[in-house]
Amino acid sequence: MVANPDKFLPARVLEHRAISEDLFILKVDPGAPYHFLAGQYATLGVELGGDARIERAYSICSSPYEPALEFFVERIPQGKLTPLLHHVQVGTPLLLRRLAKGRFTLDLRSGRKNHLLVATVTGVAPYVSYIRTVYRDWKNGGSPMPGEHRLFCIQGSSQAHEFGYREELEILSAEAPWLNYVPSISRPWDNPGWHGETGRADDLIRKYIELWNLRPEETTAYLCGHPGMVENGRSILLRARWKKDAIQDEVYFQVG
Ligand SMILES: Cc1cc2nc3c(=O)[nH]c(=O)nc-3n(C[C@H](O)[C@H](O)[C@H](O)COP(=O)(O)OP(=O)(O)OC[C@H]3O[C@@H](n4cnc5c(N)ncnc54)[C@H](O)[C@@H]3O)c2cc1C
Repeated sequence: MVANPDKFLPARVLEHRAISEDLFILKVDPGAPYHFLAGQYATLGVELGGDARIERAYSICSSPYEPALEFFVERIPQGKLTPLLHHVQVGTPLLLRRLAKGRFTLDLRSGRKNHLLVATVTGVAPYVSYIRTVYRDWKNGGSPMPGEHRLFCIQGSSQAHEFGYREELEILSAEAPWLNYVPSISRPWDNPGWHGETGRADDLIRKYIELWNLRPEETTAYLCGHPGMVENGRSILLRARWKKDAIQDEVYFQVG
Protein backbone atom coordinates (compact mmCIF):
# COMPACT_ATOMS: atom_id res chain seq x y z
CA MET A 1 0.00 0.00 0.00
CA VAL A 2 1.29 3.49 -0.86
CA ALA A 3 1.82 5.71 2.18
CA ASN A 4 -0.86 8.37 2.69
CA PRO A 5 0.42 11.56 0.95
CA ASP A 6 -1.43 13.69 3.53
CA LYS A 7 0.95 12.34 6.15
CA PHE A 8 4.11 11.45 4.27
CA LEU A 9 6.42 13.19 1.84
CA PRO A 10 8.13 11.21 -0.93
CA ALA A 11 11.67 11.80 0.29
CA ARG A 12 14.80 10.52 -1.46
CA VAL A 13 18.38 9.96 -0.42
CA LEU A 14 20.74 12.57 -1.85
CA GLU A 15 23.92 11.46 -0.13
CA HIS A 16 25.11 8.74 2.23
CA ARG A 17 28.48 9.44 3.81
CA ALA A 18 30.23 6.99 6.12
CA ILE A 19 31.85 8.51 9.20
CA SER A 20 32.90 5.21 10.77
CA GLU A 21 31.82 1.60 10.51
CA ASP A 22 28.56 2.35 12.37
CA LEU A 23 28.07 6.09 11.87
CA PHE A 24 26.89 7.86 8.77
CA ILE A 25 25.48 11.15 7.56
CA LEU A 26 22.38 10.98 5.43
CA LYS A 27 21.27 13.86 3.23
CA VAL A 28 17.66 13.68 2.15
CA ASP A 29 15.57 15.57 -0.36
CA PRO A 30 12.23 15.99 1.42
CA GLY A 31 10.40 16.00 -1.91
CA ALA A 32 8.40 19.14 -1.01
CA PRO A 33 8.86 22.12 1.31
CA TYR A 34 9.47 20.84 4.82
CA HIS A 35 9.07 23.20 7.75
CA PHE A 36 10.90 22.80 11.03
CA LEU A 37 12.71 24.71 13.73
CA ALA A 38 16.39 24.16 14.51
CA GLY A 39 16.51 21.42 17.13
CA GLN A 40 13.40 19.55 16.02
CA TYR A 41 13.33 15.98 14.77
CA ALA A 42 11.89 14.31 11.70
CA THR A 43 10.27 10.90 11.49
CA LEU A 44 11.99 8.82 8.83
CA GLY A 45 11.04 5.39 7.69
CA VAL A 46 11.02 2.74 5.02
CA GLU A 47 8.17 0.73 3.54
CA LEU A 48 8.48 -2.98 3.90
CA GLY A 49 5.64 -3.98 1.58
CA GLY A 50 1.97 -4.49 2.30
CA ASP A 51 0.97 -2.20 5.17
CA ALA A 52 4.24 -2.65 6.97
CA ARG A 53 6.70 0.17 7.58
CA ILE A 54 9.36 1.02 10.13
CA GLU A 55 9.72 4.58 11.37
CA ARG A 56 12.04 6.25 13.85
CA ALA A 57 12.78 9.78 15.06
CA TYR A 58 15.95 11.57 13.90
CA SER A 59 17.13 15.00 14.98
CA ILE A 60 17.75 17.24 12.01
CA CYS A 61 21.34 18.48 11.64
CA SER A 62 20.67 20.88 8.80
CA SER A 63 19.39 24.40 9.28
CA PRO A 64 15.85 25.34 8.22
CA TYR A 65 17.63 27.61 5.71
CA GLU A 66 18.92 24.58 3.76
CA PRO A 67 16.77 22.83 1.16
CA ALA A 68 18.03 19.32 2.01
CA LEU A 69 17.60 17.59 5.35
CA GLU A 70 20.65 16.12 6.99
CA PHE A 71 20.83 13.42 9.66
CA PHE A 72 23.67 11.88 11.69
CA VAL A 73 22.79 8.25 12.32
CA GLU A 74 24.29 5.41 14.31
CA ARG A 75 23.69 1.90 13.05
CA ILE A 76 22.40 -0.35 15.81
CA PRO A 77 23.30 -3.85 14.56
CA GLN A 78 20.32 -5.46 16.34
CA GLY A 79 17.99 -2.57 15.39
CA LYS A 80 15.15 -2.65 12.89
CA LEU A 81 15.61 0.56 10.89
CA THR A 82 19.26 1.61 11.08
CA PRO A 83 20.67 -1.53 9.39
CA LEU A 84 18.37 -0.67 6.46
CA LEU A 85 19.33 3.03 6.44
CA HIS A 86 22.97 1.98 6.51
CA HIS A 87 22.54 0.42 3.08
CA VAL A 88 20.51 3.07 1.28
CA GLN A 89 21.95 4.57 -1.89
CA VAL A 90 21.51 7.85 -3.72
CA GLY A 91 17.94 7.91 -5.00
CA THR A 92 16.53 5.38 -2.52
CA PRO A 93 12.99 6.46 -1.53
CA LEU A 94 12.30 7.07 2.16
CA LEU A 95 9.17 7.88 4.09
CA LEU A 96 9.25 11.26 5.77
CA ARG A 97 6.36 12.36 7.99
CA ARG A 98 5.24 15.82 6.94
CA LEU A 99 5.37 17.18 10.47
CA ALA A 100 8.60 17.91 12.27
CA LYS A 101 8.27 17.53 16.03
CA GLY A 102 9.98 18.33 19.28
CA ARG A 103 10.61 21.12 21.75
CA PHE A 104 14.38 20.79 21.95
CA THR A 105 14.84 24.19 20.40
CA LEU A 106 17.15 27.01 21.42
CA ASP A 107 15.80 28.76 24.52
CA LEU A 108 15.33 32.38 23.49
CA ARG A 109 12.55 33.07 25.97
CA SER A 110 13.99 32.72 29.44
CA GLY A 111 16.43 35.62 29.12
CA ARG A 112 19.40 33.32 29.81
CA LYS A 113 22.09 34.27 27.32
CA ASN A 114 24.41 31.27 27.64
CA HIS A 115 23.60 27.84 26.19
CA LEU A 116 25.55 24.81 27.36
CA LEU A 117 25.09 22.07 24.74
CA VAL A 118 26.18 18.58 25.84
CA ALA A 119 26.00 15.59 23.48
CA THR A 120 27.06 12.02 23.02
CA VAL A 121 28.10 11.34 19.38
CA THR A 122 24.96 11.70 17.20
CA GLY A 123 23.35 13.82 19.94
CA VAL A 124 25.24 16.75 18.42
CA ALA A 125 22.67 16.80 15.58
CA PRO A 126 20.28 19.44 16.98
CA TYR A 127 23.25 21.59 18.03
CA VAL A 128 24.61 21.53 14.47
CA SER A 129 21.24 22.84 13.36
CA TYR A 130 21.26 25.62 16.00
CA ILE A 131 24.82 26.58 15.12
CA ARG A 132 24.31 26.61 11.34
CA THR A 133 21.17 28.68 11.78
CA VAL A 134 22.66 31.21 14.19
CA TYR A 135 25.82 31.42 12.06
CA ARG A 136 23.84 32.25 8.96
CA ASP A 137 21.81 34.90 10.82
CA TRP A 138 24.99 36.32 12.34
CA LYS A 139 26.63 36.56 8.89
CA ASN A 140 23.57 38.16 7.33
CA GLY A 141 23.10 40.57 10.19
CA GLY A 142 19.52 39.38 10.58
CA SER A 143 19.86 37.45 13.83
CA PRO A 144 16.53 36.75 15.50
CA MET A 145 18.45 36.19 18.72
CA PRO A 146 17.92 39.10 21.07
CA GLY A 147 21.11 40.34 22.65
CA GLU A 148 24.36 38.54 23.06
CA HIS A 149 23.77 34.79 23.13
CA ARG A 150 26.71 32.42 23.43
CA LEU A 151 26.82 28.70 22.65
CA PHE A 152 29.15 26.27 24.46
CA CYS A 153 29.19 22.77 23.03
CA ILE A 154 30.76 19.62 24.51
CA GLN A 155 30.56 16.47 22.35
CA GLY A 156 31.72 13.11 23.69
CA SER A 157 32.54 9.99 21.68
CA SER A 158 34.67 6.91 22.16
CA GLN A 159 37.01 7.48 19.23
CA ALA A 160 38.49 10.51 17.49
CA HIS A 161 36.93 9.68 14.11
CA GLU A 162 33.35 9.54 15.42
CA PHE A 163 32.43 13.21 15.85
CA GLY A 164 30.90 13.64 12.39
CA TYR A 165 30.91 17.45 12.46
CA ARG A 166 34.18 18.17 14.24
CA GLU A 167 35.88 19.95 11.36
CA GLU A 168 32.87 22.14 10.64
CA LEU A 169 32.35 23.03 14.30
CA GLU A 170 36.02 23.79 14.85
CA ILE A 171 36.12 26.08 11.83
CA LEU A 172 32.97 27.90 12.94
CA SER A 173 34.12 28.22 16.54
CA ALA A 174 37.46 29.67 15.38
CA GLU A 175 35.53 32.36 13.52
CA ALA A 176 32.48 33.03 15.68
CA PRO A 177 33.16 34.64 19.07
CA TRP A 178 29.82 33.35 20.36
CA LEU A 179 30.71 29.67 19.83
CA ASN A 180 32.93 27.29 21.80
CA TYR A 181 33.26 23.64 20.83
CA VAL A 182 35.06 20.89 22.74
CA PRO A 183 35.18 17.36 21.31
CA SER A 184 36.25 14.75 23.84
CA ILE A 185 37.11 11.07 23.51
CA SER A 186 36.64 8.47 26.21
CA ARG A 187 39.16 5.95 24.81
CA PRO A 188 42.41 7.93 24.42
CA TRP A 189 44.46 4.70 24.63
CA ASP A 190 42.96 3.70 21.25
CA ASN A 191 43.79 7.13 19.73
CA PRO A 192 47.50 7.80 20.28
CA GLY A 193 47.49 10.86 17.98
CA TRP A 194 44.74 12.62 19.97
CA HIS A 195 45.83 15.76 21.82
CA GLY A 196 42.40 17.13 22.65
CA GLU A 197 40.09 16.71 25.64
CA THR A 198 39.49 13.27 27.14
CA GLY A 199 36.67 11.86 29.24
CA ARG A 200 32.94 11.38 28.87
CA ALA A 201 30.79 14.40 28.06
CA ASP A 202 28.92 14.32 31.39
CA ASP A 203 32.17 14.04 33.33
CA LEU A 204 33.38 17.27 31.71
CA ILE A 205 30.37 19.39 32.64
CA ARG A 206 31.80 20.54 36.00
CA LYS A 207 35.19 21.40 34.53
CA TYR A 208 33.74 23.46 31.68
CA ILE A 209 31.10 25.33 33.64
CA GLU A 210 33.98 26.64 35.75
CA LEU A 211 36.33 27.22 32.84
CA TRP A 212 33.69 29.05 30.81
CA ASN A 213 32.34 30.77 33.93
CA LEU A 214 28.78 29.61 33.26
CA ARG A 215 26.33 30.52 36.02
CA PRO A 216 23.01 28.68 36.49
CA GLU A 217 20.92 31.86 36.40
CA GLU A 218 22.44 32.90 33.06
CA THR A 219 22.74 29.50 31.34
CA THR A 220 20.28 27.05 29.81
CA ALA A 221 21.73 23.54 29.65
CA TYR A 222 20.86 20.99 26.96
CA LEU A 223 21.58 17.26 27.15
CA CYS A 224 21.15 15.11 24.05
CA GLY A 225 21.77 11.48 23.13
CA HIS A 226 22.59 8.53 25.36
CA PRO A 227 20.16 8.11 28.30
CA GLY A 228 23.00 7.47 30.76
CA MET A 229 24.71 10.74 29.84
CA VAL A 230 21.41 12.63 30.09
CA GLU A 231 20.62 11.22 33.53
CA ASN A 232 24.11 11.77 34.89
CA GLY A 233 24.42 15.19 33.27
CA ARG A 234 21.14 16.29 34.80
CA SER A 235 22.23 15.21 38.30
CA ILE A 236 25.52 17.07 37.92
CA LEU A 237 23.75 20.24 36.78
CA LEU A 238 21.18 20.05 39.58
CA ARG A 239 23.98 19.66 42.12
CA ALA A 240 25.66 22.69 40.52
CA ARG A 241 22.44 24.68 41.31
CA TRP A 242 20.79 24.59 37.88
CA LYS A 243 17.01 24.81 38.21
CA LYS A 244 14.96 22.09 36.54
CA ASP A 245 13.46 24.51 34.05
CA ALA A 246 16.95 25.56 32.92
CA ILE A 247 17.75 22.01 31.77
CA GLN A 248 16.37 20.60 28.51
CA ASP A 249 16.94 17.09 27.27
CA GLU A 250 16.42 14.83 24.28
CA VAL A 251 16.87 11.13 25.07
CA TYR A 252 17.50 9.02 21.97
CA PHE A 253 16.53 5.58 23.30
CA GLN A 254 15.64 3.62 26.41
CA VAL A 255 18.15 1.12 27.66
CA GLY A 256 16.75 -2.25 26.53
C1 LIG B 1 13.70 12.65 19.51
C2 LIG B 1 14.68 11.60 19.02
C3 LIG B 1 15.70 11.97 18.16
C4 LIG B 1 16.61 11.01 17.72
N1 LIG B 1 17.63 11.39 16.90
C5 LIG B 1 18.56 10.48 16.50
C6 LIG B 1 19.66 10.87 15.70
O1 LIG B 1 19.82 12.06 15.33
N2 LIG B 1 20.55 9.92 15.31
C7 LIG B 1 20.42 8.61 15.71
O2 LIG B 1 21.26 7.76 15.31
N3 LIG B 1 19.37 8.20 16.48
C8 LIG B 1 18.45 9.10 16.86
N4 LIG B 1 17.38 8.70 17.63
C9 LIG B 1 17.21 7.24 17.89
C10 LIG B 1 16.38 6.63 16.74
O3 LIG B 1 15.05 7.12 16.78
C11 LIG B 1 16.33 5.09 16.82
O4 LIG B 1 15.91 4.71 18.10
C12 LIG B 1 17.70 4.47 16.56
O5 LIG B 1 18.18 4.88 15.29
C13 LIG B 1 17.60 2.93 16.57
O6 LIG B 1 16.65 2.52 15.61
P1 LIG B 1 16.60 0.99 15.14
O7 LIG B 1 15.27 0.75 14.51
O8 LIG B 1 17.80 0.63 14.33
O9 LIG B 1 16.72 0.17 16.50
P2 LIG B 1 15.48 -0.38 17.37
O10 LIG B 1 14.92 -1.58 16.72
O11 LIG B 1 14.55 0.75 17.66
O12 LIG B 1 16.21 -0.74 18.74
C14 LIG B 1 16.83 -1.99 19.02
C15 LIG B 1 17.43 -1.95 20.42
O13 LIG B 1 18.57 -1.07 20.43
C16 LIG B 1 18.47 -0.11 21.47
N5 LIG B 1 19.04 1.14 20.95
C17 LIG B 1 18.43 2.05 20.15
N6 LIG B 1 19.28 3.06 19.86
C18 LIG B 1 20.44 2.78 20.50
C19 LIG B 1 21.70 3.44 20.59
N7 LIG B 1 21.94 4.61 19.97
N8 LIG B 1 22.67 2.85 21.32
C20 LIG B 1 22.45 1.66 21.96
N9 LIG B 1 21.28 0.99 21.90
C21 LIG B 1 20.29 1.54 21.20
C22 LIG B 1 16.98 0.00 21.75
O14 LIG B 1 16.78 0.40 23.09
C23 LIG B 1 16.48 -1.40 21.50
O15 LIG B 1 16.66 -2.20 22.65
C24 LIG B 1 16.48 9.64 18.12
C25 LIG B 1 15.43 9.29 18.99
C26 LIG B 1 14.56 10.25 19.45
C27 LIG B 1 13.47 9.82 20.39
